[in-house]
Amino acid sequence: MTSEKKDIRALSKEELRDFFVSIGDKAFRGNQVYEWLWSKGSHSFEDMTNISKETRAHLKSSFAINHIKVDNFQKSDDGTIKNAVKLFDDLVVESVLIPTKSRTTACVSSQVGCSLDCKFCATARLKRMRNLNPDEIYDQVVCIHKESLLYHNRPLSNIVFMGMGEPLMNYKNVLLSIEKITSDEGLGMSPKRITVSTSGVPKMIKKLADDEVKFNLAVSLHSAIQETREQIMPFAKSFVLDDLRESLEYWYDKTNRVITYEYIVWDGINDQEVDIKALVKFCKYVPCKVNLIEYNPIDDGEFQQANNTAIDMYIEYLEANRIPVTVRRSRGKDIDAACGQLANKQ
Ligand code: SAH
Repeated sequence: MTSEKKDIRALSKEELRDFFVSIGDKAFRGNQVYEWLWSKGSHSFEDMTNISKETRAHLKSSFAINHIKVDNFQKSDDGTIKNAVKLFDDLVVESVLIPTKSRTTACVSSQVGCSLDCKFCATARLKRMRNLNPDEIYDQVVCIHKESLLYHNRPLSNIVFMGMGEPLMNYKNVLLSIEKITSDEGLGMSPKRITVSTSGVPKMIKKLADDEVKFNLAVSLHSAIQETREQIMPFAKSFVLDDLRESLEYWYDKTNRVITYEYIVWDGINDQEVDIKALVKFCKYVPCKVNLIEYNPIDDGEFQQANNTAIDMYIEYLEANRIPVTVRRSRGKDIDAACGQLANKQ
């Protein structure tokens, strides 16, 4: 149901304190309500038993407590879980829990649909409908954290912003959600366990560096040749590789943190020696590692994963140049939960 009232979870602690002062109450009442909303995860004003009945009624008439609801839950044979979550306005996004031997990772969405137009990604076909609010991102993480305890008997260990959307096109809300995830009132998680993945928006990468963020950065590179990158990621015409490179140098200068390049090798697109040499050259600008991602076909076969010979050649060249490289296998393919497959099929 669409709520007309203002979402109380959109307010900071300071704003809540100010609200109580403005209605002639004590500022600390704001702390109490904040604790109910965040530390205790309350979804109803009725729960707030240390607040008077009158005040609760006042809150109820002024605010809504928006929260997500799991609309569809799917569990893969490999333990991967996908949640389709309904937002307060009935739009739906997806988030995924990926368990491995040593980690449980939450893959969360930052937008409904996506602002960008990567040709190989299912989410790109949805177009961007709206940005998620900080609490909508935070709720996805909490939900997966609970599922991790329930189904895998361990807490969440890592978070990647690799679900639907381009996180750096929803910059403010993504950063606010991370603030909440890492705060003691939220999940108290270390930012070192969080990775924000971007298609590469140079201006915003510089802003991350200026804002001295403490989380990790991954860039979906997929080609280090301008013309090829434009073909598969058309927005790259505006966000050119030279600017991307400069922004990454800036990031490293300021943060001293290694960048991860995500890279898919496709048949007939970037499987030649010139592609590999261009990648190796690009990798020398800034300390980095390369994550070769398995391609998850999304439809008509326009894109196909290159054969193992091409992938082995990539690994050989990268290793010869002492660039750390890992190959990432897809998880949860049977439930369309793998990278690039999130498209609200339900
Ligand atoms: N917009 C951000 C985060 C979302 S996409 C970004 O581009 O990084 C998360 C990752 O999935 C990106 O590396 C993206 O390139 C990759 N991806 C997209 N479609 C894919 C597909 N069909 N198969 C495998 N990976 C895909």
